[in-house]
Amino acid sequence: MSRPFELDPLFRAISTLPGVGPKTTPLFEKLVRGGKVVDVLHHKPIDFIDRRFSPKLKDAPNGKIATIEVRVEKHSPAPRRGLPTRVTATDGTGTIDIIFFNANKDWAMKQLPIGEVRIISGKVEHYQGKMQMVHPDMIGLPEERAAIETIEPVYALTAGVTNKTVKKAMQGALGTIPKLPEWLDDAHKKKRSWPDWHKAITILHDPSDETYLSPTHPARERLAYDELLANQLSLALVRLHQRQLNGRAWKSEGALRQKILSTLPFDLTGAQQRTLDEIDTDMQAPLKMLRLVQGDVGSGKTIVAACAMMNVIECGAQAAIMAPTEILARQHKKSFSEWLNAAGISYVTLTGRNKGKEREAILDDIKSGEAQVVIGTHALFQDSIEFKDLGLAVIDEQHRFGVHQRLALSQKSKGTDVLVMTATPIPRTLTLTAYGDMEVSKIDEKPAGRKPIDTRLLPKEKVETMIDAIARQIQKGAQAYWVCPLVEDSEILDLQAAEARYDILRERFGAQVGLVHGKMKAQEKDEIMESFARGDIKILVATTVIEVGVNVPNASIMVIEQAERFGLAQLHQLRGRVGRGSTKSFCFLVYAAGLGQTAKERLRTMRETEDGFIIAEKDLELRGGGEILGTRQSGMPVFKLADLTAHGDLLVTARDDTKLIIAKDENLKSTRGIALKTLLYLFEQDQAIMRLRAG
Ligand code: ADP
Ligand code: MG
Repeated sequence: MSRPFELDPLFRAISTLPGVGPKTTPLFEKLVRGGKVVDVLHHKPIDFIDRRFSPKLKDAPNGKIATIEVRVEKHSPAPRRGLPTRVTATDGTGTIDIIFFNANKDWAMKQLPIGEVRIISGKVEHYQGKMQMVHPDMIGLPEERAAIETIEPVYALTAGVTNKTVKKAMQGALGTIPKLPEWLDDAHKKKRSWPDWHKAITILHDPSDETYLSPTHPARERLAYDELLANQLSLALVRLHQRQLNGRAWKSEGALRQKILSTLPFDLTGAQQRTLDEIDTDMQAPLKMLRLVQGDVGSGKTIVAACAMMNVIECGAQAAIMAPTEILARQHKKSFSEWLNAAGISYVTLTGRNKGKEREAILDDIKSGEAQVVIGTHALFQDSIEFKDLGLAVIDEQHRFGVHQRLALSQKSKGTDVLVMTATPIPRTLTLTAYGDMEVSKIDEKPAGRKPIDTRLLPKEKVETMIDAIARQIQKGAQAYWVCPLVEDSEILDLQAAEARYDILRERFGAQVGLVHGKMKAQEKDEIMESFARGDIKILVATTVIEVGVNVPNASIMVIEQAERFGLAQLHQLRGRVGRGSTKSFCFLVYAAGLGQTAKERLRTMRETEDGFIIAEKDLELRGGGEILGTRQSGMPVFKLADLTAHGDLLVTARDDTKLIIAKDENLKSTRGIALKTLLYLFEQDQAIMRLRAG
């Protein structure tokens, strides 16, 4: 089945809409985050202007939008360039100057001929004892009053696209919207008093009072639900399909795992053991595993992954672990090499850095099966990489990877089980949107002996005192991370800040200070990280390149400058770099003067808890879903109509709805099923649709 023809008008290019020319098209595409008419329709108003307000001039308040009928009295053309053209008009109760800057004066005067009556609508300003309106939004004839006295939606804009342009394009888009089959459950729709899709989208763009802007307005709720349902259904279908692909039942004795465990200087925690049991149960079953392991920083996910890998290695298959960055991949290599050597297992590492002959040799080993374990970065996703028999793919710190990348890896081989590991304690709502109702194991217990981290908030002015304290700790053998702020969109400024701090510390501590930043060559970066790990460097100044997952147990001090600029989840990740050894650890959150209320509350949360889940929930509450992981490139779906902070309950309903749909009609053949396919197309869930087609 290809896209139902009734959706065609929604999938035309934006450039087909009125008022959208070649210049505005790219701007528009950026604004609505897509290139199709449907993307324009999903650009929801953020406010409205009420032009029904029609006072007499003498009563027109300053700063308010008003629609007024006036008679034009006088034209004062701009006396010279740079000065405005002025048209004076009256309604009998007062006079108003209508002002045009840089306007074609003939145009202005033709619009407002002397002696004629016109309706003007725009913002009234009281200026130097007079009343004026600069560039009226609308000018019309008295008989056009009804068309002018309307309520107009106001949209988020971008440079080069005015509200007028969006409105015009939107009118064009709304003029072509089709009637679509109803995909909602009838009873549910009635209970909520939701309108049809067609009506909902029309109402969305025609707000007539405040309530229309509320996320709980029935039209907005319905559209949000549609989006969430499409998300849940698509994830469920993809997953269903994956599970049905001949999964393999891995029967291993556990001998290799035993070998690894016997080299460890510790026992697994109860939570690690429980998670492994859950993984083993999945892997022994003949279905494909797709399991998410959530464990706070330092909870010990890596060893769990290694143990899971042994299940497939023992059966003669390969296993791979993929990290989001070079540094993390190398860190994994370090941990794994000890374990794998002890068990006599061969491995290779593959990152973007391996080039030419070296890379070819690695690829050969992967293809021939010579390499039993492959450790790498997203380089592993590439098509050129062929495994002999990939039994288990572990994706670490996965929130950086998108759904499609995860699928790409799991499709490297027919029966590949997938284990996704994340250190970011994602709130339940976000897990649902990113994975659907996927199995989740939680490592909710830290290895024994970890001491709480003493977190302190510190105004910038006190940095010197803090440095004195750090100096004393370093004398006693401690090590410190010093993270410099992330300046939005400017790696160069980031760097300057870090370099300036480095110079200051260098003066005092000499060669004991190191600097690492994103602009460095990978090799340089590694050298610095390694010399920090060895303890040669005592204070490591870094931009945020000290990624999640780096493990230097002796480091017990974390300084974060301008902490208010970081997301809570990010602060939590950074703080998790310390508190791994046996000594007491400190985290200093340095903030600039003049912090707002919310910013203070956020930092206080950090001081009050080390529980990543509480922090993540708080972050979601204070910043909203899109921001939870710091950036938009987080691999989390971005919703246009739904707002997770307001529509969390709808998400849960969509999850349950999806379960029922799948249970009754997994191929979407019923009447509702067919309508649901239209829904999937509407939200461009092509992946899911392809699964249906294949199945
Ligand atoms: P993360 O979950 O952040 O990836 P790691 O797997 O890097 O954590 O583990 C952090 C540190 O804790 C490592 O040094 C690891 O060897 C150690 N570790 C893991 N499990 C245990 C345990 N059960 N007892 C003590 N230390 C452990
Ligand atoms: Mg890790």
